[in-house]
Amino acid sequence: MFDENEIYSLIEKGKKKSGSITEVKQILAKAKKQALCFSTSSEYVQGLSEEETAVLLNLDSSNLELMQELFDAALYVKRAIYGNRIVIFAPLYVSNYCQGGCLYCGFRHDNKAIKRKKLNHNELIDEVKALQAQGHKRLLMLMGDDPAYTLDEFVEAIHVVSSVKTATSGEIRRINVEIPALDKEDFKKLKATDKIGTYTLFQETYHRPTYQKVHPYGPKKDYDWRLNTMDRALESGMDDVGIGVLFGLYDYRFEVLSLLKHANHLDKKYGIGPHTISVPRIQSALNTPFTDNLEFALSDLDFKKVVAIIRLAVPYTGIILSTRENEQMRREVYNLGVSQISAGSKTEPGGYHEEKCSSGQFFLNDIRPTHEVIYDLVKMGFIPSWCTACYRLKRTGKVFMQIAKKGEIQDCCHPNALLSFIEYLLDYADQKTRELGLNLIDKEIATVPNLKKREQLIANIEKLKNGTRDLFI
Ligand code: SF4
Repeated sequence: MFDENEIYSLIEKGKKKSGSITEVKQILAKAKKQALCFSTSSEYVQGLSEEETAVLLNLDSSNLELMQELFDAALYVKRAIYGNRIVIFAPLYVSNYCQGGCLYCGFRHDNKAIKRKKLNHNELIDEVKALQAQGHKRLLMLMGDDPAYTLDEFVEAIHVVSSVKTATSGEIRRINVEIPALDKEDFKKLKATDKIGTYTLFQETYHRPTYQKVHPYGPKKDYDWRLNTMDRALESGMDDVGIGVLFGLYDYRFEVLSLLKHANHLDKKYGIGPHTISVPRIQSALNTPFTDNLEFALSDLDFKKVVAIIRLAVPYTGIILSTRENEQMRREVYNLGVSQISAGSKTEPGGYHEEKCSSGQFFLNDIRPTHEVIYDLVKMGFIPSWCTACYRLKRTGKVFMQIAKKGEIQDCCHPNALLSFIEYLLDYADQKTRELGLNLIDKEIATVPNLKKREQLIANIEKLKNGTRDLFI
């Protein structure tokens, strides 16, 4: 798919050009101008080129003035495309059995310190009820890679999860999955559930020698099989795919350029770029010494730089942030391009309804309950969104990409985000969040530019207040 030497050559050329402040400013200006075009023309916008991205990646992080210009440009682009929405989800781990030997992961097979568990149907139901009680409507289901939990069991689990309903209006409306690399037959089986949103899989590192070093044994050992997973997924009918890198395994400049090449490859070949790009940074995990001394650990400043650059390079993609980051860092990157976050997360199977039921994949740095994360977002002026309209109206795959690349995400997502937020405020929020949230919504209604949509929104808000649920336009 791509040549490592080409990436090193891009990095070297970028390094030379990054010394020119004029060049850097021109790139940032281009990124902002593209975002402006988004809202005013019917042109597709492609984001930055690989060469331009390489220049930004080589920016001297100690040049705080220029870094601030980069961050400002990322915020500008994010606002133009995504507005002030942040999509909320929770991970649901169904099994932590794993044959993998991934050195950075607490679930790895040889980790004898870990307590293993796979959820039976009743436990799954209890997990979903606990998540619904927090207001969650969107889940990311995950499992380890082990015959102890087969794909057939996972498919059954998907049906169980989607069948659970609790008062008030508790239901899971979108299930994304992050499960091991599948072959085409298994992707078809997953697709046949007709309940899957995005299929996500991280390459972890695109650097082949590092990949081999950190995956000494197990099903994940084969670099090429993993790299080609998204091709198999899209060729088997999956609509939306998410990619990502585990930052800290190798040089972030190499990783971001590889991510970009991967995104461009999928976009060019299938007309479907990555629906999401995830930006996990390695965190420590139980009995996982590999994470203690990382040669390529990403500093906070460089992490912010990476998020901002991905926003400029792939403006149409959703950027996903997990609770690996602490609350302060999470607040900072909301303004740099992140558009989806997990909240109230547990990485232990059973962790939402039981204490000490099993062991987690890694330690979390944001352990706030969901309602605190939501309150914090609202205080900052963000609209938490549980919207699932696109997926349920079949605006997925190529159709979604066309909307996203024309910058029309805002147009359909903003009113629907508001509707999902009102549901949360009415059904799950405490008094202070409800008051703050309803005030914010009042201000936001006036910002919906399309008058017809604004009227629909106002009418639907009334219906929600009168007890109707699950409305979108
Ligand atoms: S990263 Fe995935 S495959 Fe590797 S040990 Fe962890 S759960 Fe298993």
